Amino acid sequence: MAAMDGDGMVPLAVLLRREMSWERIEKPDILYGEASESKKGEDFTLVKTECQRVPGQGDTTFSVFALFDGHNGAAAATYSKENLLNNVLSAIPSDLSRNEWIQALPRALVAGFVKTDKDFKKIASVSGTTVTFVIIDGWVVTVASVGDSRCILESAEGSVYFLSADHRLEANEEEVERITACGGEVGRMNVVGGAEFGPLRCWPGGLCLSRSIGDMDVGEFIVPIPHVKQVKLSNAGGRLVISSDGVWDALTAEKALSCSRGLPAEAAAIRIIKEAVQLKGLRDDTTCIVVDILPPEKISPSFPAFKRPGKGVFKNMFRRRSSESSLFSDRDYSEADMVEEIFEDGSPILAQRLDPEYPAFTMFKPFNCAVCQLEMKPGEGISVHAASSSKPGTINPWDGPFLCSTCQIKKEAMEGRHT
Ligand SMILES: [Zn+2]
Repeated sequence: MAAMDGDGMVPLAVLLRREMSWERIEKPDILYGEASESKKGEDFTLVKTECQRVPGQGDTTFSVFALFDGHNGAAAATYSKENLLNNVLSAIPSDLSRNEWIQALPRALVAGFVKTDKDFKKIASVSGTTVTFVIIDGWVVTVASVGDSRCILESAEGSVYFLSADHRLEANEEEVERITACGGEVGRMNVVGGAEFGPLRCWPGGLCLSRSIGDMDVGEFIVPIPHVKQVKLSNAGGRLVISSDGVWDALTAEKALSCSRGLPAEAAAIRIIKEAVQLKGLRDDTTCIVVDILPPEKISPSFPAFKRPGKGVFKNMFRRRSSESSLFSDRDYSEADMVEEIFEDGSPILAQRLDPEYPAFTMFKPFNCAVCQLEMKPGEGISVHAASSSKPGTINPWDGPFLCSTCQIKKEAMEGRHT
């Protein structure tokens, strides 16, 4: 399990202390742009740059960027666009410090994704969507993902990081095993004569993905439990590229970054889409959001974004390593200027993702359903560990967190156990 003590990870509290001691309490500037070429009209984006952890307090602002690539209709994508952010935020306890809020995010993202999937089931059984959901708070970037849209990061130091998982059956043997064990059938299409072709798909339905929001008609073992990764950038910043598979089927991460390097965010997004469509044609909805996380403009903080010399800023940023690294010893450099991984977990098992060993566990309300936040009377909830496959022997079935009865049914359905 990932969390705070995993290999090579740095505890968040240490990072935030370090941030304070180095007087890095300033927030980065966030500049962004998006571009899209539509074929089926099933890609949707959500951009919110003025969210506040504490309503009315400007210094608690954070940003959200999300991409929803729908299939079999747009219903799941539009429903998620409208409801997912609220479902995530309402799963975060109130009155948290910034440190605690960031620690609580991974679990709240899991709860918000599952609640959105469960609620969507009430309005439609057909259609599903990938979700790539990015929250930026200061220099901390948290990405939750289901499906095969992707978020990549190029740090100002020039390293490239994948912040999302690939939940294509074709690319993920563990997920194929999980789905088969739950009763799903995974295989390729057959032509007459038995020759197989195309990617691995889950039947019935023929879905190529192992996780999504929606897709109730395929089976509940197509789970909405997101891969979550949390990193902290250095105060030199970096660039995020969030794109649907239309881009990644045509371009590698390196190609997408190199073809748009030096361009301001919006021009970069347009260039990436153009490059992808030129290479592969417009075979699918193709959407790209580019987000630049930049050192704050100290001279005129309210200077309009479109007048900023984006090109120059980037040129400097990406030269930083070669021109300045020699000034630092290796150790200083790695502490000061690397992207640091705070948290990562991609387990598809809900009980593991709501585990008491998780950061910020004690801050969640014990008598609210851990998924939908329904208030329950003591003794009414069902332990997430009841009859669960998670760590037998280490956790008692009367230990929390607890689920309401309908979320418990959802949990069992996701594990392939129907009641
Ligand atoms: Zn519930």
